[in-house]
Amino acid sequence: MSIDLNSLVEHDLSDECPICRTQDIVHIALLPAAAAWELNNQLPRFALALHGAAGLLGAMLEDGVPREEIETAMSVLLDDIEQQIDEDKTFGGPPRGTA
Ligand SMILES: [Zn+2]
Repeated sequence: MSIDLNSLVEHDLSDECPICRTQDIVHIALLPAAAAWELNNQLPRFALALHGAAGLLGAMLEDGVPREEIETAMSVLLDDIEQQIDEDKTFGGPPRGTA
């Protein structure tokens, strides 16, 4: 069984977009939870974020997704996030939901 990573990377900004909803969950739930776990367990900042991300990607490797495809998808996503950060710095205001 192969997984089409492109379908998990390319998306629109509509309200029904599953990728946007996934990103919202990460921002609303996962990021604060990871930060709280790090704090409560005296772990270095971003320790859980980094290892959590790597561990989740490792599950994809285990599932047979080629590492190159994962790295390519991550590169695209990180490019998007960097661009978003730049835009937020330029325009200020809330980062999402009003496209
Ligand atoms: Zn989207």
